[in-house]
Amino acid sequence: MSDNEASALHYGVKILHDPIRNKGTAFTEADREVLNLRGLLPPRVHSPAEQELRVLGNIRNKATDLDRYLYLIALQDRNEVLFYRVVMNNLEEMMPLIYTPTVGMACQEFQHIFRKPRGFYVCSHDRGHIREILQNWPHKNARIIVVTDGERILGLGDLGADGMGIPIGKLSLYTACAGIHPTQCLPVMLDVGTNNESLLNDPLYNGLEQRRSRGAAYDELVDEFIEAAEEVFPGVLIQFEDFGNTNAFRLLKKYRDKTNCFNDDIQGTGAVALSGIIGALRISGGKLSEQRLLFLGAGEAGIGTADSFVAALVEEGVSVEQARKCCWFFDTQGLLVADRKNIAPHKQPYARKQPPIDNFLEAVNILKPTAILGLSGQPGSFPKEVIEAMAKINERPIIFALSNPTSKAECTAEQAYGWSNGRAIFASGSPFDVVKLGNQTHVPGQGNNVYIFPGVGLGIIVSRSKRVTNEMFLAAAHSLANQVSKSDLLSGSVYPPLSRIREVSALIAFEVAKIAWSQGLAEREEPADIMADIQEHMFQPDYPHYA
Ligand code: NAD
Repeated sequence: MSDNEASALHYGVKILHDPIRNKGTAFTEADREVLNLRGLLPPRVHSPAEQELRVLGNIRNKATDLDRYLYLIALQDRNEVLFYRVVMNNLEEMMPLIYTPTVGMACQEFQHIFRKPRGFYVCSHDRGHIREILQNWPHKNARIIVVTDGERILGLGDLGADGMGIPIGKLSLYTACAGIHPTQCLPVMLDVGTNNESLLNDPLYNGLEQRRSRGAAYDELVDEFIEAAEEVFPGVLIQFEDFGNTNAFRLLKKYRDKTNCFNDDIQGTGAVALSGIIGALRISGGKLSEQRLLFLGAGEAGIGTADSFVAALVEEGVSVEQARKCCWFFDTQGLLVADRKNIAPHKQPYARKQPPIDNFLEAVNILKPTAILGLSGQPGSFPKEVIEAMAKINERPIIFALSNPTSKAECTAEQAYGWSNGRAIFASGSPFDVVKLGNQTHVPGQGNNVYIFPGVGLGIIVSRSKRVTNEMFLAAAHSLANQVSKSDLLSGSVYPPLSRIREVSALIAFEVAKIAWSQGLAEREEPADIMADIQEHMFQPDYPHYA
């Protein structure tokens, strides 16, 4: 047999080992015939529903969530359609496994659980060759890149190259929640080293054995990566993810007007938290302009949320200066006041002319906020006295413990409801179970940017927008808030259930795409029916036909 004949004969084997085209035991009799797969699979043909049943049984039998994560990633590596079918049909069960909180655990263990590479690694040694190596990526149609340098992974800190689990997880959500085709998604780790001693001392660590590069060397690497990515994948959308905050703000400022990019921790979180506040006011009956927000944490997520809140007030006709006066920040140095020395540029607009306060409870008692928003990564930093004080000041105190993963939440759902006699309007970054208090049931909403970024990305892709604008995030926040039903609010949740996320993302994409067309940013002609166009773009986990 010639090599050509052998290669034609074994074409089906390649498909069997290609996760995008593999169907496993669901290859039909006819598929098996045309692809020469007879004998290579057990004889019984299973339906996708039967395959899903087997996967669910396996997942539920595992002892730990990390084992479940590993099982799911292994499935994604061998059969993507089945992976997405399982995830999409069981979203509320699967999301905490492929995303926060389990993905945090997986990143912390990455060097030990590593089996098969996924995503793309660019490291300091690749300077001068990034364009060339990006050609190694097998899918030429990448439309979204999620890139991190691993410096601030969730609230877990510097995990270096082991932070790769985050871009992988986020892009899985782009597919599951907004139907971006898996081959259009490219997870990237920019490995510039790590300052995490235990990783540097671990012989199994997968990243560069060096301390983080900073300054010009860092900036030149990022510059080269962005230029190369735009050239190799024209029009690609770049999402900055989990960068340390000095780089995050700087990079966003540098690239936002010249590149198709956004920062999810700043802008995505801003939009989801704003939407949650709007939802909370539908419960309490308050007005946006009457809110007094006290943030714990003045980093990417906190400042991003305040900026979104200010943008929403400006839209209502309030001046920027007035709107900023509704926001106070409390960080590692206490209340952010104008007298403080060396205030980072991103915090300066929110530094208040008032005496310093170095105790959060005291800040609550003095400032009398309507809402406290935890974006500090400090577990337990909303203790009983703080929640009780909030419940004394407000009939319906807004308590958002948004830090991830669950182990870093400022308080639990049970604590927020329990200590406020069930009056708190609570949301958290990672999921919490329903809380029963007496005869009341409280459903905590998940204030996570997963409600925003997939829809924004889909809107950008469909319109072929060349930029991501603030107006798009504001529209996404309003669209999300409008999709919270009366029954969601009655149950205490300020977000729609995750089971509706595809519908939510499609409607956000619709608003984003409309803005792209109205702002002249779309590189595609506007279709007659934008929503039908969006639906058509959305990937469904259906197997291909071979025969
Ligand atoms: P960051 O590093 O930019 O900011 C952290 C901030 O917390 C800093 O201002 C720091 O001074 C402050 N801080 C730290 N310890 C503190 C303490 N003991 N008391 C008061 N303030 C303290 O990080 P970030 O990107 O803003 O993320 C912060 C947290 O928010 C993380 O846990 C992250 O997972 C979470 N987050 C959640 C979402 C979501 O969708 N829910 C999105 C992004 C970030």
